[in-house]
Amino acid sequence: MTLLSPAVTPSMISMENLGDIKSESIPHLSADQRSKLPLPDILPVVKCIARARIPTTQGPEIFLHLYENNIDQKEHLAIVFGEDIRSKTLFRFREDETQQDRMTRGAYVGKLYPGRNTADKDDRLKLELKFDNKGELIRDPSTTYSKPTMVRIHSECYTGETAWSARCDCGEQFDEAGRIMGQLGHGCIVYLRQEGRGIGLGEKLKAYNLQDLGADTVQANLMLRHPADGRSFSLATAILEDLGLLEIQLMTNNPDKIAAVEGKNQTIKVIERIPMIPLAWKSDDGIKSKEIEGYLSTKIERMGHLLEKPLQISGR
Ligand SMILES: [Zn+2]
Repeated sequence: MTLLSPAVTPSMISMENLGDIKSESIPHLSADQRSKLPLPDILPVVKCIARARIPTTQGPEIFLHLYENNIDQKEHLAIVFGEDIRSKTLFRFREDETQQDRMTRGAYVGKLYPGRNTADKDDRLKLELKFDNKGELIRDPSTTYSKPTMVRIHSECYTGETAWSARCDCGEQFDEAGRIMGQLGHGCIVYLRQEGRGIGLGEKLKAYNLQDLGADTVQANLMLRHPADGRSFSLATAILEDLGLLEIQLMTNNPDKIAAVEGKNQTIKVIERIPMIPLAWKSDDGIKSKEIEGYLSTKIERMGHLLEKPLQISGR
């Protein structure tokens, strides 16, 4: 997948090219049902403060976007596939800044190279961004992507992503989302810093000990006086809006996440759901552990996750 082809030629890769990935349509919520959801009325304010190109060990390049916001002090991220997915707050002109400043914080079009001196124009690739008289980026389809886009909302999981944990499937789902977005050429993983369903790493480790003592993941959280799921997705909604990803295909098995990401006013529209089938259910790859079976069965039985294959759970 070359980096810049999508900016010049719109991506023609269809879902059919991705083999066994099936999308599912979304049940419709009425305005009344939506208004009763436990979601904030007003979205957090987010601002993308830096973006950089990251070549990856897996092949496709990504553009890592770092966000600040007005509700917590954490550095939430957007891992963006496609140079032409653009953050409104990153590209917006700031007072007294130079073209060099803009390139330094990542507000450039095309590709940087030694000696380049304009952020808004890439002479080699013949790309130029346009701005209105307030300094806001004009979303021109020749330089800025705005078609329905594959999205995954991922909550940080140190154990699953870094410490090779087989207690959960976070690392596998993260890798799988990246693999698919890399193939498509466009996509976004919103990476939220809410470790352990929002309870933090220390409390998550205690929950693991309670699980080893016989509790399931929901019971363990409740025993520690935490909600079964303390996560919030309104930051993800705000980040997607900032990136102009208003219509998305959401990779999830969690039905509650669909409305949560759309937000109370349906700022974002989930047009399809892409199920995340554990790799171990469809191939010899994937996570195999006693713990993952319990974890997945709790997600299905206790948290309403939409996974169809019945689990064979030993010793239950
Ligand atoms: Zn995890």
